Amino acid sequence: MRRDLFGDEHELFRSQFRRFAEKEIAPKVAVWNERGMSDRETWRRLGDEGFLGVSAPEAYGGAGGDFLYDAIVMEELSDLRAHGIMVSLHSNICRPYLETYGSEEQKQRYLPGTVTGEIILGIAMTEPGTGSDLANVQTRAIRDGDHYVLDGAKTFISNGQIGDLFVVVAKTDPQAVPPHDGISLLLVEAGTKGFVRGRKLDKLGLRGQDTSELFFQECRVPVSNLLGQEGRGFRMLMEKLQQERLCIAVASIASCRRTLLDTIDYVKERKAFGRSIASFQNTQFRLAELATEVEVGRAFVDRLLVSHVRGDDIVAEVSMAKWWTTELQKRLSSECLQLHGGYGFMREYPVCDDYADAAVQSIYAGTNEIMKVIISKRLGIA
Ligand SMILES: Cc1cc2nc3c(=O)[nH]c(=O)nc-3n(C[C@H](O)[C@H](O)[C@H](O)COP(=O)(O)OP(=O)(O)OC[C@H]3O[C@@H](n4cnc5c(N)ncnc54)[C@H](O)[C@@H]3O)c2cc1C
Repeated sequence: MRRDLFGDEHELFRSQFRRFAEKEIAPKVAVWNERGMSDRETWRRLGDEGFLGVSAPEAYGGAGGDFLYDAIVMEELSDLRAHGIMVSLHSNICRPYLETYGSEEQKQRYLPGTVTGEIILGIAMTEPGTGSDLANVQTRAIRDGDHYVLDGAKTFISNGQIGDLFVVVAKTDPQAVPPHDGISLLLVEAGTKGFVRGRKLDKLGLRGQDTSELFFQECRVPVSNLLGQEGRGFRMLMEKLQQERLCIAVASIASCRRTLLDTIDYVKERKAFGRSIASFQNTQFRLAELATEVEVGRAFVDRLLVSHVRGDDIVAEVSMAKWWTTELQKRLSSECLQLHGGYGFMREYPVCDDYADAAVQSIYAGTNEIMKVIISKRLGIA
């Protein structure tokens, strides 16, 4: 079905990005998956070509485009299974904190480097003892003169090894009631004394990403690196989660499509009982159903993209899309693996990684159970 949300400029951008990604990213996917992380050269190349700053403000080196350009980058990277390079985390999840809440001095210092790819961003919310219950973070940032002394441990942090600058969630007032009123956001440079990178974690899927532990040991962060106001961190996080979850839904639908199309090719080729697998009515019905669900999901996500660009409050709808598309992705990759028979279980067939990569989609950026808590609250029943 023709999608009517993208204009000619968007489509031109898509073909430019696709050409770049096929040449400079696709050949590296297997290397990153083997090594467990992407490489700085590719980040710099993305920056050189302007792909990290499509929606960043022009005053700081960006192109000032709308979020649809970013959605195109997400779709094309998902289509190439280039999950190792977390462009959306960098450009659409982390950088908006700087763009919206950063002081002029912080913007001048950091934004241009995020556009060129010299500064790679990450966000450190989750801790070993708390993930969903964000208000319960134990990392502390206690004021000492013109510094905060940051102490604590974070885990599952994407870009944890390669990242240069992290938005860190910490309690500046551990006694605050309610607890989320004590939360602030700090910009922490990776070179700061007391900033320690821990293990790069061994994962089921997304093997090209450097998901890591981070530690802060009496890490002195200048007060000038406080993002926004002290005690407003939780609210800032809530305001930005709409976009973060929309990114997941966009990537999920694009991944579903890739897996589906590859599976259609496979069942046409593979033979059993002297016929193609595709000729069995079970195969046709399964793929017909999945193709229907992908179209339904994409129509919903496209609708949300338009609303998001317009600036609507669509927190509940984005939460619906996040849980629904990621559950679809998990089910679709499992069913497509089944249609591959034993070959689906072999890593040389992409559906094998698709199945493993899908598992996390319902967990990060807020679990699907938390999405349903949010929707229930908006329905007035929780
Ligand atoms: C690959 C990967 C990358 C990640 N990247 C980042 C990152 O860059 N930065 C970052 O800060 N974090 C990151 N995370 C962490 C991620 O956001 C958390 O794992 C997630 O929020 C869940 O927290 P948790 O793992 O502590 O699970 P828990 O909160 O312990 O949840 C365990 C289970 O309990 C359920 N549960 C919890 N509370 C409720 C409730 N109220 N009602 C119903 N069920 C509930 C959950 O849904 C889940 O099923 C990443 C995680 C992974 C796996």
